[in-house]
Amino acid sequence: MSPASLNILLTGGSGYIGSHTAVVLQQAGHRVFIYDNFCNSDPAVGHTLQAITGHPFTVIEGDVRDTALLQQTLGENAIDAVIHFAGLKAVGESAIIPIDYYANNVQGTISLLQAMQAASHQPKTLVFSSSATVYGDPQYLPIDESHPTAATNPYGRTKLHIEEILTDLSKADASWRIACLRYFNPVGAHPSGLIGENPNGLPNNLMPFVAQVAVGKLKELNVFGNDYETPDGTGVRDYIHVMDLAEGHLAAVSYLNDAVQAHQGMHTFNLGTGRGYSVMEMVQAFEAASGKSVPFHIAPRRAGDIASCYASTALATRELGWSAKRDLKDMCESSWRFQQHTNTGA
Ligand code: NAD
Ligand code: UDP
Repeated sequence: MSPASLNILLTGGSGYIGSHTAVVLQQAGHRVFIYDNFCNSDPAVGHTLQAITGHPFTVIEGDVRDTALLQQTLGENAIDAVIHFAGLKAVGESAIIPIDYYANNVQGTISLLQAMQAASHQPKTLVFSSSATVYGDPQYLPIDESHPTAATNPYGRTKLHIEEILTDLSKADASWRIACLRYFNPVGAHPSGLIGENPNGLPNNLMPFVAQVAVGKLKELNVFGNDYETPDGTGVRDYIHVMDLAEGHLAAVSYLNDAVQAHQGMHTFNLGTGRGYSVMEMVQAFEAASGKSVPFHIAPRRAGDIASCYASTALATRELGWSAKRDLKDMCESSWRFQQHTNTGA
């Protein structure tokens, strides 16, 4: 049974996944509070979310490493649950400035946990944004939650360290309710086209890169390798619509606070679709959705890339009662709508 209306704080809530989750939570009847330092997002997100939902959102400017401000925010708004999106996420950059990554992601999480413990009402429900990157090079497919973990870069290691910290905490104090969500490859945008993924500079990820080629902002896509052991030789990933992902967070909050059977302790779930698409399949689907051509050329493999990665979704389906519903066409169409809106303001 779903919990009553909760006050939910979203650290990093003005970013790509957080903003979509804010809409879904608000529309499910929860009160959403966004806490963000805007290092990778737009402070105007509150207005955009209001335009989408018709409801005002409270947006607090702050860094997750500011424990005192977090504690004050938790208390003043009687926060029941926190979804912790805030963090740095670029794999390549994490190898160049690893200390920034450990400070933002690991130290930021410790600061959040300290603030939650210090708040007078001690909220103990937490949903954490982890990543399929913690599985490293897959030993078998589909990847289930008991697959061994082995991060191959500093970003992934921050996620693994945080998962270990949360496991230790849940063992030390059984009253915590923690969901650790390992996302596969989030893509797409809200159907309004008003929010989506808009990376600064050259996109690292496939989908925003393809969208920027289709709109004419970038000349061509570099396809990183066509000699993998996959059906067409290009890399295969489990792309999940960001609205499905957002609904996965709603399901996780409901699961932790279920009115009949609350789930204490630490619970880890994959959030993916269970099916993989190759780079070339993504390019073709995007061309069909946008009506634009996406010129590409075959480039060498990208260092550290794996051939294939897709999720076993059985656990999330069984425990959370959640599964991804939107298809590749919807992922591409919504991403294209957002890309056009971003370029033209239309
Ligand atoms: P995003 O960069 O769009 O959002 C992150 C938000 O956190 C941004 O608004 C940023 O300004 C904020 N932030 C960063 N450091 C902060 C700090 N110290 N204090 C306060 N705010 C801070 O990224 P996203 O794609 O929405 O990702 C959200 C979370 O999901 C991240 O933790 C990321 O590692 C994780 N994740 C993302 C993906 C993906 O492909 N997008 C995949 C797996 C996991
Ligand atoms: N990819 C590509 N060109 C790009 C970006 C990505 O060919 O400009 C490929 C990449 O090699 C991988 C897939 O697209 O096979 C998804 O890459 P992304 O960086 O989006 O996700 P990740 O590799 O982190 O799962």
